[in-house]
Amino acid sequence: MPSRDYYDILGVAREATKDEIKKAYRKAALRDHPDRNPGDAEAEERFKQAAEAYSVLGDVDRRSRYDRFGQEGVRGAATPDFQADVFADFADILGGMFGFDMGFGRSRRQGPARGASLQYQLQLDLEQAISGVEAEIRVRRKRTCEACDGGGSASGSGASVCEVCGGQGQVQQRHGFLTIARTCHRCGGYGQVITDPCDRCRGAGRAAETTTLKVKVPAGVDTGMRLLLRGEGESGVRGGPPGDLAVQIEVRDHPRFVRRGGDLYTRVPVSFPRLVLGGQIEVPTLDGEAASLQVPAGVQSGDVLSIRGRGMPSVNGNRRGDLKVTLQVVTPRAVGRRERELLEELEELLPTPEELEDSTSWWDRLRSVFG
Ligand SMILES: [Zn+2]
Ligand SMILES: [Zn+2]
Repeated sequence: MPSRDYYDILGVAREATKDEIKKAYRKAALRDHPDRNPGDAEAEERFKQAAEAYSVLGDVDRRSRYDRFGQEGVRGAATPDFQADVFADFADILGGMFGFDMGFGRSRRQGPARGASLQYQLQLDLEQAISGVEAEIRVRRKRTCEACDGGGSASGSGASVCEVCGGQGQVQQRHGFLTIARTCHRCGGYGQVITDPCDRCRGAGRAAETTTLKVKVPAGVDTGMRLLLRGEGESGVRGGPPGDLAVQIEVRDHPRFVRRGGDLYTRVPVSFPRLVLGGQIEVPTLDGEAASLQVPAGVQSGDVLSIRGRGMPSVNGNRRGDLKVTLQVVTPRAVGRRERELLEELEELLPTPEELEDSTSWWDRLRSVFG
């Protein structure tokens, strides 16, 4: 069979970077891995070809020889140090994801393993974030089987030595010039098998279940924060400890309040006369009752007033931010005759906007500060 071009096999351009080649190989290896395609001879062939192509293109020296002389340049040279190199990359790339163990004849019996840690995305409203909440989350996870108490055996007699690998947990397979040590399919690498598997977990010792967990979310949480529930991930195997459950917080945007650190910002509509004369206004808050706010006479539209301690609490302390209220003048879109007369008269009486601006502008204040 004529050899295909290594670049074609990995589907990369001739000028591909080392990184691109590695990525392409990783993709091919994951897709065509024998563990994922049991009994598929074509996938296995592609897998081997990709490994061979990568053993050349993944190495600067061999690649340049291949580029100059083609197959001839790398023939023979590929064999001696081929295994060690490719396996080093394999280990890095496949990382035992599919039980593709890199042992060179070494016994790799699998011992206790920690359960997988899980993540859960929890969305909250800003109201819930300010007050704290006990949220209920539904998690699907593998937990220790209750029927067999995790032992996997129906009678409780336990496991016996695997007849396929003789307790080694792995078997050697030759693929052409490659010898691959693969996890034993019979015992899954454990070296022991359960001959009377439990009905519920089929001998795995763990079974998938969907559980509702209560999560106490403290007041003040913000997007990006994570609550770690230790031991609430998947149960370990063969006596290993359980993984954790990380609850990732995401606080939804609120239509009326914006959070910046500990402070909340909101905008309140105020009438023109109220701004001029001052007085009490009611400000809606996030945590229940409206707050009343004293507006001093003569404030400007756009000025920000603070209501102390009505912002967000901090998760780990008693500090609380402020509620920052932007006052915004709202004007009637249309007025009656009487209102019109009064407003026209008022405009006559009041200083011009320019004069008002001069007396109140930040520029003036700035000038007075710097003398
Ligand atoms: Zn069971
Ligand atoms: Zn076995």
